[in-house]
Amino acid sequence: MRFNDLTAHELRGLLLRRETSAVEICRSVFDLLAAVEGEIQAYITLDRAGALAKAETVDRDLRDGRELPPLAGIPFAIKDNMCTKGVLTTCGSRILRNFVPPYNATVVERLNAQRVVMIGKTNLDEFAMGSSTEHSSFFTTRNPWDTARVPGGSSGGSAAAVAAGSAVCALGSDTGGSIRQPAALCGVVGMKPTYGLVSRYGLVAFASSLDQIGPFTRDFTDCALVLNAICGHDERDSTSAPGELGDFTDFLVDDVRGMRIGMPQEYLSGGLDEGVRRIVLEAASVFEQRGAYVEETSLPHTDYALPTYYLIAPAEASSNLARYDGVRYGCRLENSTDVIDMFRLSRSRGFGAEVKRRIMLGTYALSAGYYDAYYLKALKVRTLIRRDFEEAFEKFDLLLAPTTPEPAFPIGDKTEDPIKMYLSDIYTLAVNLAGLPGVSLPGGFLNRLPIGIQLIGKPFGEGALLRAGYTFQQSTGHHLKRPRIRGEA
Ligand code: GLN
Repeated sequence: MRFNDLTAHELRGLLLRRETSAVEICRSVFDLLAAVEGEIQAYITLDRAGALAKAETVDRDLRDGRELPPLAGIPFAIKDNMCTKGVLTTCGSRILRNFVPPYNATVVERLNAQRVVMIGKTNLDEFAMGSSTEHSSFFTTRNPWDTARVPGGSSGGSAAAVAAGSAVCALGSDTGGSIRQPAALCGVVGMKPTYGLVSRYGLVAFASSLDQIGPFTRDFTDCALVLNAICGHDERDSTSAPGELGDFTDFLVDDVRGMRIGMPQEYLSGGLDEGVRRIVLEAASVFEQRGAYVEETSLPHTDYALPTYYLIAPAEASSNLARYDGVRYGCRLENSTDVIDMFRLSRSRGFGAEVKRRIMLGTYALSAGYYDAYYLKALKVRTLIRRDFEEAFEKFDLLLAPTTPEPAFPIGDKTEDPIKMYLSDIYTLAVNLAGLPGVSLPGGFLNRLPIGIQLIGKPFGEGALLRAGYTFQQSTGHHLKRPRIRGEA
């Protein structure tokens, strides 16, 4: 049976009806991997033995008639910047090339409690800095829709795995767009939850005031199921939000009547590809036809989001990455003459060019004499950006925008020009600066490449995103299309 096009909730049905087994599903994923992974290269590490052993325990409990959690037996991929006990966690960096964590990230623990089957750890731009996976120290992942193109980044491996069928669901992290942008370019659903909704314990830190973990899935039902599994307070992350959460599947309602949706005009101009713009406007009319009110609105400080992000994120990164000194953290280069030389060699050989660029930018912005002019100013502008959203949300339940300015771009297209690469996240960064939830969902196709549309919600407004996303998906069916990959049977 061909499982690779199915969702987690569909596979669950098959498992409960005994039409398949967790082992059979797991084997079919590894069979597909054998055929396509040479071309796609979504994974840094595969754990076939661990995955099959997990699947067997799920089957045993199924046979024994035990009740199993909703995601039991579902093949999952984890971005390689989340700690997995006993399984290599590289962060896409040479400096962590042999780091095997002695503990699990909270999200991994929560997925283990669901009895998911972890297939492996996925490729990313080094320390999640990038938009294409081309900044991975190991290799570039390819877009399953067109292998000459990037899958987006930094969580490109996770997005490509879900699109290709070599995982049913995956986790990514999003600091400025790293879940939503690759989800858009690979034609899957990718949600960045509200800052604080998901524990970051065990996520290797990039920019701590912006980082957030979230799901990649093939549809909104799976998105709600994964949110149910990973959200909630964690005393090991002091930024994790307190309070009880309901069941996110309650929001899977095929109805947006009366919903007020704003379209920020700043997100529909400038460098936006005409075809992408058309798809966003078509999405607006789908929502209108289904009974929502859609109206233009304005987020006046939008132009400042990119420079603000590229001061705050590198400043936090320079501080977070100071720990990789070859002594307490990170690989050490042994042939050094003294301790200073050892630090210098370990860091200069361990980090790649983009990470060094961020460390230098961030250190500069934080240094005496420049702190007020750059870092402090960026924090003030961040407040203005957040207020823009607060004002918009006085009138609207959610905002509709493009996720990316263009479809997946050719490999190599932007590697020589960091600013061009940074512009890939022009429509996603502000959401992180404001700590809001955002989701990218399949909005249509341009020249056979998937295009994502983005929905942005109020703080802890994931429910509205699920409801609108679910309604859109039921009305259009774009999420049902799958890429065909060379090598696939
Ligand atoms: N592409 C952005 C950056 O390079 C965002 C990365 C992310 O969200 N992790 O910083």
